[in-house]
Amino acid sequence: MLQGTPIFVLKEGTERDRGKSAASGNIAAARAIADAVRSTLGPRGMDKMLVDSMGDITITNDGVTILKEVDVEHPAAKMIVEVAKTQDQQCGDGTTTAVVLAGELLKRAEGLLEQNIHPTVITRGYQLALQESDRLLNQQIGTKVTSENESAVLLDVATTAMGSKGVFGSRDKLAQIAVRAVQRITEKRGDRVVADVSLIKLEKRHGGTIDNTELIDGILLDKERGHPRMPRAVKGARVALLNSALEVKKTEIESKINITSPTQIQNFLDEEDRNFRKMVEQVKHAGANVLITQKGIDDVVLHYLAKEGIFALKQVKESDLQKLARATGAKIVTGVRELQAGDLGQAELVEQRKVGDEDMTFVTGCKNPRSVSILIRGGTEHVTQEVERSLEDALKVVSSVLEDGVVCPGGGATEIDLAVHLRKFAPGVGGREQLAVEAFAQSLEVIPWALTENGGYDSINTLIDLRGAHEGAHPNRNVGVNLVDGKAADMWKLKVIEPLRVKRQALSSAVEVANMVLRIDDVIASKKSAAPAGGPGGPGGHGH
Ligand code: ADP
Ligand code: MG
Repeated sequence: MLQGTPIFVLKEGTERDRGKSAASGNIAAARAIADAVRSTLGPRGMDKMLVDSMGDITITNDGVTILKEVDVEHPAAKMIVEVAKTQDQQCGDGTTTAVVLAGELLKRAEGLLEQNIHPTVITRGYQLALQESDRLLNQQIGTKVTSENESAVLLDVATTAMGSKGVFGSRDKLAQIAVRAVQRITEKRGDRVVADVSLIKLEKRHGGTIDNTELIDGILLDKERGHPRMPRAVKGARVALLNSALEVKKTEIESKINITSPTQIQNFLDEEDRNFRKMVEQVKHAGANVLITQKGIDDVVLHYLAKEGIFALKQVKESDLQKLARATGAKIVTGVRELQAGDLGQAELVEQRKVGDEDMTFVTGCKNPRSVSILIRGGTEHVTQEVERSLEDALKVVSSVLEDGVVCPGGGATEIDLAVHLRKFAPGVGGREQLAVEAFAQSLEVIPWALTENGGYDSINTLIDLRGAHEGAHPNRNVGVNLVDGKAADMWKLKVIEPLRVKRQALSSAVEVANMVLRIDDVIASKKSAAPAGGPGGPGGHGH
């Protein structure tokens, strides 16, 4: 019966792009993304101003922030954006590097495809080059941090990570805060060092200057006490944490009570009042003088709490409640009825203080010394946001170095060194894969190239000098670009140092996505999702 009738495997109207044409479409889309962030790379990189559909503005130099905000349609471009997000989650730094490298790997791959080299050969060559890079990074380029130089190295790593952000003038101060904060939360588990930066609480308040940013010993909450008659400060705080409301449930009233006479109303109100008093009685009975809940507190309850001299905060975020639990040693209790003396946590002082125009609550002198917050200040909201992004990067790189204890030189030194050694490694690989390894080496040079170019210097001359320094009879692996004069210089001397983890992850994410894009030889898109100009368009209903 089917004989003679064409079989439609794909729905009518489906667009299909195959083979070389699919590859070049994908590569072009991925490279467009890489080109967009390339000019932000490094301390001399330019900022981008992002305007969303609501007209809100973000000014940033942060690769991942840019890519998160930009509305990307093309599936291959989306893959690149994913790389930036992964890199950000894993390392907090090196996002622009990963994306720019991925773009360069794809550009060089295109050249190889034109010479009729099969994508599989290219991806295999890239994989081999990555393995060799990993070996070089671990065995030759990475430097172990010693107990003598640790404090200095941590500061340098934090300063380098913040070097490209719009916080230049306050870098040293912010770096010191970042290092002290991470040192506070670092602990030894067996013979492993763990520095979980999610323990550090960041709070922003605009007004003042970046230099007013400070490290707070304890937990800082952007909240005010629930009633003006509550004490502003409680010394020797015994803290109760609740994740339920101190209110009468609205649905109960509606479903259960059918009021027919004024006395019934009075009875009902009396009953409600008794319940409210009982709640406060329970808090008092447990011995708490500070009550913090994730949900609401009825105004009447707030009034009674104030009368008892209890400091109360309502509608506190769940993540903050958890930080408070860890800091004070309190147990988060589900219902106020279950609250007992043993559930309370401790802090030397809970105090509401004015920061800028409004108050914040400081929970200081906590039972657990590994609880810190950073109060971020800056002239405007845009400034505090960029300071927050810079600090997040700095905290993560400091924690990487504390956990791994290995660093490498920045300023393109590591990339140039890898390139030089991979070129020596390539002939041993043989076959056509050798060409891919060489392309990989060439791609790595985009990092020092872009750093120099963004600094406004002549990239060709600098690159020749850099290669010379790494290849010569007395090679110096630490030579990178000095962005003060655009010349080759020793990065250890300039204190431009990065965690080895950032470089390794940036390389492997870049190779992963480049290879993924190269393996695609068929893009099938339904017509529904109108194809964006110049690309084959996204598949219908793409996720994320
Ligand atoms: P990423 O998102 O990849 O971290 P950045 O814009 O932060 O991108 O730039 C990081 C690059 O800038 C790294 O290669 C780093 O070594 C380099 N870099 C940072 N500070 C300096 C400096 N003072 N001199 C030279 N290079 C620097
Ligand atoms: Mg960076």
